[in-house]
Order: sequence, then structure tokens, then C-alpha cells
Amino acid sequence: MSGETLSERLRVPLSVRVQNGGLWSYLSALWNDEGAKVALATALGACLSVTQGVGLLLLLPLLQLVGFNTGQGATAGVAHYASAAFAFIGLPLTLVSVLGVYVVIMTLYFLLTRWQNNLGYAIQLDFATQLRQKLYRAIVDTNWLFFSRNRASTFTHALTSEVDRVSYGTQQMFQGLAGLMVLAAYIVVAWLLSAVTTAAVVLCGIILIFGLKNKISVSREKGKALSADMRGLYGAVTEHLDGMKTVKSYGAQERNMARFSNLNARIMKDYVEYVRNINTSQLLVNVGSVVILAGALLALIDVLHLPGATVLVLLYLFFMIIPQFNSLQLNYQAVVNMLPSYANVMDIKARSEAEAEREIARPRDVTLRRRVELRDVSFSYAAEGQSAVEHVTLKVDAGKMTAIVGTSGAGKSTLADLIMGLIEPQEGAVLIDDVPLDAERLDAWRGCIGYVAQETFLFNDTVRANLLWAYPSATEDELRTALRLAAADDFVARLPDAMETVLGDRGVRLSGGEQQRLALARALLRKPSVLILDEATSNLDSENERRIQGAIEALHGGITIVAITHRLSTIRNADVIYVLENGRVIETGDWTSLTAGGTGRFLELCKAQDALQEIGDVGAASQRVGPTGSPVG
Ligand code: ADP
Repeated sequence: MSGETLSERLRVPLSVRVQNGGLWSYLSALWNDEGAKVALATALGACLSVTQGVGLLLLLPLLQLVGFNTGQGATAGVAHYASAAFAFIGLPLTLVSVLGVYVVIMTLYFLLTRWQNNLGYAIQLDFATQLRQKLYRAIVDTNWLFFSRNRASTFTHALTSEVDRVSYGTQQMFQGLAGLMVLAAYIVVAWLLSAVTTAAVVLCGIILIFGLKNKISVSREKGKALSADMRGLYGAVTEHLDGMKTVKSYGAQERNMARFSNLNARIMKDYVEYVRNINTSQLLVNVGSVVILAGALLALIDVLHLPGATVLVLLYLFFMIIPQFNSLQLNYQAVVNMLPSYANVMDIKARSEAEAEREIARPRDVTLRRRVELRDVSFSYAAEGQSAVEHVTLKVDAGKMTAIVGTSGAGKSTLADLIMGLIEPQEGAVLIDDVPLDAERLDAWRGCIGYVAQETFLFNDTVRANLLWAYPSATEDELRTALRLAAADDFVARLPDAMETVLGDRGVRLSGGEQQRLALARALLRKPSVLILDEATSNLDSENERRIQGAIEALHGGITIVAITHRLSTIRNADVIYVLENGRVIETGDWTSLTAGGTGRFLELCKAQDALQEIGDVGAASQRVGPTGSPVG
């Protein structure tokens, strides 16, 4: 045994803020995940750059052939090398041969571009898919307490919108990378023709980009605002849709609509400000470009007196170089705008991982033979503040039905979570057959449990698929038995396609009682050692409650049942009843003993609910318990 306790397995820092969402951490993650493909894409970019350069250089012999003056110096040198290259491959330097080679080289360039584009998209999609996969893994593996403290929409938002934005940013980065390579080709060719003017143009381009530093930080800020506002929108939408019935019954659609519109408008404002910022940057770059271009032309013609062909080619190159600077800054702004989303995804992932239930190297088996026991257990949700459960001792005997009752907020569900090992006690211990429930036994223990919650959770799929989800290898016989035991066989048989009927979103085509019985059948299909019913009948009308009650009664004696309820009529036949108040067990006994004395909290609760149907129930004194849960009188 590793000696690792459940407390160690679940213990986590309350909040781990990570600083791993910056550009470098993003780039290194990209390199780690997609290193080989990124290297290939870069190599392809270099090839693109070379083919582009060669294609451009071919313009010179072309111009020479057309009759332009290439003069002396660099231009003549380049034209001379081009002629030598043609002679080397045995081609005459004619208009047709130069154009033929140009077509071949540019076709190669476009083929490489297609390859690089495909690769860029593959990297972008693969990186996003892996990121989403890792994030989901972290969320699935995190402990229940951490999960339940966060809004589900925070996770949904990160898994969908945020990862999509990272994906888009990655695409922009690859576009930028390809642009950078092509820019390099332009610069090299221009440099060969006129180093001085090229250096001046590049320098001006760089100064122009640096002049946009403020605009880039606005992009980053807008990216952060977008992330936060989108998260808010996801949260609101999830809540509104979940509570649509209540919203409609309150006639509160307009209030919801107004909240939604506010958030939606904020997102539009974020986008508008981001796009305006981008457009202003573009305007500045465009005006700057024209000024640089005019200056460069003046220098080429009036100061350097370069030949016509050189001026023409350089003019073309500068025309290409300047917008390339513009595209690069747009790509960079898009990446910077995406980084807050990446930081958010990494933050949620890191916090989920920090609170993960760790993999256990040697898991142990658990078989319940005698009892589950909570021994002097205390649990508090907050580091400071009132305990939800305080010094509770209770025993759940195998094969018996144990009920935990109490008013709302008494701590009943917290006890169920403790029994299931979803949360750990800060004091005391949970024991299975006198052995502490440690991390190594946790998975096996949960495998022994059938859990039916108040809120039924059904997939938008067939009845069969909903049942098989709990136990994928169940046979037809086992499915039918589970349905019968849960008193669900009749209504399932009456569904249009019986077990093949697709249940609507969250099973809306079934009544609450039918959903509960299906959830019970699903729990029973696992043949659990312990069936935990957490307010499983509290939403039901009396007819449906009676049906479920009948099903549970039929199981009584054959299976260990923990029934958690505030509805006392449902636990009449429980072997032991624990009455919980403010997180403490205040009474324990069976129905008869608890209602016998004419006084006591259980009796009060019964009277308040009209749960006493037989006057004879009220008799001798109810059993009282001390803080440890043992009877004291
Ligand atoms: P019951 O099931 O009897 O209604 P619970 O076990 O749900 O009671 O809650 C017991 C106490 O713990 C309540 O005061 C409740 O507000 C608090 N509580 C329950 N769940 C959480 C949670 N996830 N975070 C913080 N407090 C909680």
C-alpha cells in the first residue's frame, strides 16, 4: 500500500494562478506539440522564399530581353548570373525560354504554397484539438469539490470559444510565418539590387511597426475583455436555458433578454473597438508606406540614378514589401489578441490539474460485506466558517436500508458525498468494513455504488443507450431485469419504440417520475453493493412516489440502501433512521422508536409533514444520541 490517504489524494491548493499564458509559453507549447510539423512548415517557408526570390530575379533577364536598360553594377551582375544559369542548364536566353522557366518556378511556388497552407491548417487544428483534449482530461480528472465550486459554463466557454480563438490565432501566426519568409525573399532580392535603399526601406518599416506598440497593447487588452465578456455570456446563456421553465412561468423573458442583450452588446463593442484599432493601425501603416515609397523612389531616381530596369524591379519589390509589413503587424495583433484566451485555457487546465484526483498505481479492490461507517466525521466547504457536517458517526449495515433525514441544508447531501468518497472529511474517517476508504480503494468503491440524484441526468439518446452508459456490457436480460426492478418496464414498453425510443433533450418526453425510475434502473443495472438515493423521490407526485417507493421496497433486504430525504413518508420501513440537524446527528432509531415517545425532532418533522398515518406510531420515548451518534438514552 502506498500509504496515500484520501485526504492526500484530494488535497489541493485552493487557487493556483499560473503565469503560463504568454507568447513564449504559447510558442514553446506549440513547438512541444507540433515541433516536427512546425519545422517542416518553416523549411517549406524557406523553399517558398527561395522560389519566390528566383522568380523575382528572372524578371531582370526578362526586362533585358524586352529591351530595358539593365546598365552596369548590381543589376547587370544579376542579369549576368541569370544568363549564366540559363547557359548552365542548356537553355537559350530567349523570351519563350525565360517565360517557360518563370512559369515552372511560379508553379512550384504555388504548389509549395498549397502544401504549406495545408500544413499550417493541420498544425492549427491539431494543436487546438490537443489543447481541447488536454483541457477536457484535466476537467474530467479534477476532484468533485473543485468542479462543483466552478460554473459549468466556465469550462464550456474554455473548451469551445477560447480554444477556437487559440486555433484562429495559431492560423494567423502561420500566415505571419509564411509572410515573413516571403518578405525575406523580397528583401534579399532588393538588397542585391540596391542595398542602401533596401536597408532604408526595411528600417522605416521596422520603425513603423514599433510605432504601433500602443495599438498592439490595445489588441491585447481587447483580447482580455473579449475573453471575460464571452465567459459572462456563456454563463448567462447556460443559466437562462437551464431555467427556461422558471423564466417563462415568471414571465421574465424580457428581463433575461435585457441581460443577454447587455452582454451581447458588450461583446460587439469589444469587437468593434478591436477592429477599429486594427483599422487605425492599418491606416497609419498605409500612409507611412506611401511616404516611405515616395522617399525610396526619389532616392532611386534622383540620388542614385539607377538604370530603368532596376528602378522598375525595386519599385515592384517595395510595393510588395511595404504591405507585407502591414500584414505581419495584423498577424501579430491577432496572435496578441488571442493570447488572453490561451492564458485562460492554461489557467483552467492548471487549476484543474492541481486539484486532480491522481492516478493510483496499484488500485485495491473493495467488497462491502458488513458495513459502511462514518466515524466522528466533520466536513466544511470553506476553510473558515460553519461545518456542513460536524462530528457525525453513523453506520450503514450491508443489506439494510438506512435513511438520513433532516430539513433542507441539514447536511444530508454532504453526507452522501462523503460516503461516495467525492469529498474527504477534514476530521474523522469513512470506513468500509472497518478499513479506511483511502485513495487506492476509491475507484473500486465508486464502482460498487449506484447513485440516483434528485436531478435526473439522461442523455439525448435511446432508452437503451441511457441504460448501457452505466454498464456497457449488460445483456438484454439484465436490461429488462433492471427496468422491472425499477418499476420502469411498463412505461418503457408503452413508448413508441420501446427501448429504442430516443429521449429528448434531458429526457423531456418523460414525466419526472418516469425519468426517476429510468435513473433507478440505470443505477440497478450496475448491480451495486450500495444504492444511494439522494432525494430521489422529492420531485415526484404521490402516485409516482408510490411507484418508486414500491420498487425500492422490493429491493429492501437484497441490497444496501442509503435513502437521503426530507420526505419522511418514504422511509417508513427503513431499518435505521438518522435525523440530521445543522450537520449533526440528533436522533437515531427506527420509525417506531423515533415516533414512540410523543416528543422529539423526528416526531415534529413527521407532524409537520403529516407523515404519521397511524396514531399508534406515537408511543414511548424516542432514542436520543450523543455527538458520536451512539444512543444515549
Ligand atoms: P441538505 O442535503 O441536507 O439540503 P447539504 O449537504 O446540501 O444539505 O448542505 C449542507 C450545508 O452545506 C448547507 O449550509 C449548504 O449551504 C452548504 N453547502 C452545500 N454544498 C456546498 C458547496 N458546494 N459549497 C459551499 N457550501 C455548500
